[in-house]
Amino acid sequence: MEKKVFERPVIKKLSAGMPAKFGLQVRHEPVTQIDGVPIKTLMEEYGSPLFVYSEKKIRQTYKEACRAFSSRYPNVLFAWSYKTNYLNAVCNVFHQEGAWAEVVSGFEYQKALVNGVSGDQIIFNGPDKSKEELELAVQNRSLIHIDHFDELYDLIEIGENSNIKPKVAIRVNMDTGIYPAWDRFGFNYENGEAWDALHRIMHADNLELLGLHTHIGTYIMGTEPYKIAASKLAELAIGLSSKFDHQLQYIDIGGGFASKNTLKGVYYPGTDTAPSFEDYADAITSVLIKANFRHNKLPLLILETGRALIDDAGYLAGTVIATKRLANGQRATILDAGVNLLFTSFWYDHDIRPAKPMSDQTEETAFFGPLCMNIDVIRKNMMYPLLKKGDPYVIQRVGAYNNTQWLQFITLRPNVVMIDEKGETHLIRKKETLQTLNKMESVPDHLKI
Ligand SMILES: *Cc1c(COP(=O)(O)O)cnc(C)c1O
Repeated sequence: MEKKVFERPVIKKLSAGMPAKFGLQVRHEPVTQIDGVPIKTLMEEYGSPLFVYSEKKIRQTYKEACRAFSSRYPNVLFAWSYKTNYLNAVCNVFHQEGAWAEVVSGFEYQKALVNGVSGDQIIFNGPDKSKEELELAVQNRSLIHIDHFDELYDLIEIGENSNIKPKVAIRVNMDTGIYPAWDRFGFNYENGEAWDALHRIMHADNLELLGLHTHIGTYIMGTEPYKIAASKLAELAIGLSSKFDHQLQYIDIGGGFASKNTLKGVYYPGTDTAPSFEDYADAITSVLIKANFRHNKLPLLILETGRALIDDAGYLAGTVIATKRLANGQRATILDAGVNLLFTSFWYDHDIRPAKPMSDQTEETAFFGPLCMNIDVIRKNMMYPLLKKGDPYVIQRVGAYNNTQWLQFITLRPNVVMIDEKGETHLIRKKETLQTLNKMESVPDHLKI
């Protein structure tokens, strides 16, 4: 029998009932496997730390979201937001499920093409599109969502010199009751700029105006802002129909649905507070079906959901490097993954789980990453079982934004694997080595030693 490890006793204040000083008592149930594959096996084979994706979970979440919307609205399309996670394997799961690509730069646009997405199924958003990138997107018949007047004039010029009419929509920003409002992207609704841009497009005559787009923010915790957004876009669309007799083909409501992660400083866990896909779908579709669109002329509803579709499918597995005591006596645990790999820990209280069964003994613990930087904190303070050097852990819900915003800083980026629906593991991104970086550098002759 394995010898039990000694766990230092701690004195804890008794707190009858809840909530205690540290919030609700939470048990940190161990996560020992992902889709049937033991964490231990994964780390033995692919190293620590390690990002793990569940293909099953991606497909399941996507289907849930699709069902929520298509059961409430006749014509729905999802476009996968590349910047949320542009690992090719992840993108392709979404594309196989039927999602188009939503990109916000020339680089992402190329990535979608190389992934095999046909040009006419790419939505090109963002404030930074060069003339060359716009020309390519026009040739490929992609949907171009115009961000500002300079881009609009570029497109009018491209339209004049080409035999293909650019397919466009405008991005609209608006007051939806969320503060601060995102008003730096697209054309403003309230001050009339959006309506002005639509007039210029209609009068230019060489652009094909297909839709309206908005993206009101990210991690939107209520459904009301989406109702407001949908009704403002519907009003613009109906305005175009009555003034120009022009029927738009689609309304794109963007992304922004909350995932089940818990925001820092929020008392209740995200699993309890995040609206469901059904909640969002109810809000958006009930506005659109009641708007004054002509019979049989309901526009296609496009969604660019990112975070809420992928967060749950991503895990970060790793190993405890060491434990120590801080000056005030608090326990601290140093993990082999820090803010370099987990950019989202700046705004989430991430769900760290032991990857093996632990005793019920807990102590107030701070979790630090491996960087030699004071800001490298994953959790400041949580009641936690006593992990020790060499113990495996898993951080749940890290699929959104971490594999695009991770930093090559002090350490190299680790392997990323995906577990397929049969339980087979595939390496989907190789870990970096010193050569990966040195390949891009060169040292002038006079500096060689
Ligand atoms: C980032 C982004 C999305 C995805 O947003 P989430 O908050 O991840 O759902 C969708 N559309 C646009 C234009 C974006 O910039």
